Amino acid sequence: MRAYYLCPHCRGILNAKDDIILSAENSKGEKGLLLLHPEIGNYSSSKSKKFKIDKGDKLSLYCSICHSSLDSKKHKNFAQIQLLDVNNHESTIIFSKIYGEKVTLKVDESDTLSYGEHCKRYSDPEWFL
Ligand SMILES: [Zn+2]
Repeated sequence: MRAYYLCPHCRGILNAKDDIILSAENSKGEKGLLLLHPEIGNYSSSKSKKFKIDKGDKLSLYCSICHSSLDSKKHKNFAQIQLLDVNNHESTIIFSKIYGEKVTLKVDESDTLSYGEHCKRYSDPEWFL
C-alpha cells in the first residue's frame, strides 16, 4: 500500500509505478511529460532530454489524463494536486511551477506543512489559505 496522487479535476491517478506523471509546457510553448518523485521534499524529476527546461523557467502543468490545468488558484507560481495517503486521508499538495524552485506545501483541514529549501521566498503564510 502506498500513497497516490490524484488530479483535482478528473480524480485520475497520476502515478505510474512510483513517479507522478504530469504534462508540462515550457515558456517557449514546447510540451513534454515530466516525472516527479512521489516523496514530498524530493525534487528529483525526469523527462526526455529533447524536452528542454531551463532552471527558473515557469512551467504550465496539466493533468496527463484529462489535460486540465493544475494551476493553483491561490498563487500564480504554483500548481496543486491531491494526495491520498496510505490511511486514505486526502490532502492538497501545492508546489512551485518554477523549474528548480524547491517549495512544496501539504495542506489539509488541520495543518499546513512546508517543504523545500526555497520555501522562505514565500514567507507570507496567508497566500495559500
Ligand atoms: Zn485530470
